[in-house]
Amino acid sequence: MYNCNKCPGYCCSYPLIALTKRDVERLAKHFDLGFEEARKKFTKVDAWAKYAMRRKKDKIFGRICRFFDTDERRCTIYEARPATCRSYPGGRCGYYDFLSAERNIQNDPTFIATTDNKAL
Ligand code: SF4
Ligand code: SF4
Repeated sequence: MYNCNKCPGYCCSYPLIALTKRDVERLAKHFDLGFEEARKKFTKVDAWAKYAMRRKKDKIFGRICRFFDTDERRCTIYEARPATCRSYPGGRCGYYDFLSAERNIQNDPTFIATTDNKAL
């Protein structure tokens, strides 16, 4: 139904990736850090979340999760990723459906849909 290996990682560019306390603990363990150190390094307080994932610049989507490899287009902490990333997208992925349809229509298997519609 969807193939994340053929996608530039749209869901990792969501403005808010909310973590739970357990997610921060998992990251701390993964990087051999204390909870407070991991919290400060990897998250920030957001109006909607106590632990919001920090983000960084990305040439395709503008900004993206700090743990996303922007060259390889993949997660660098797959085993330690937060719960929300583990459960997403659940069933079908709307972005991948759109991407697949555009790639078929344009006969271009490399087509990428950016959020600002700029050519890459
Ligand atoms: S947007 Fe969909 S296809 Fe792309 S990485 Fe996320 S879940 Fe996978
Ligand atoms: S932790 Fe990994 S899967 Fe989750 S948003 Fe960041 S790069 Fe994507």
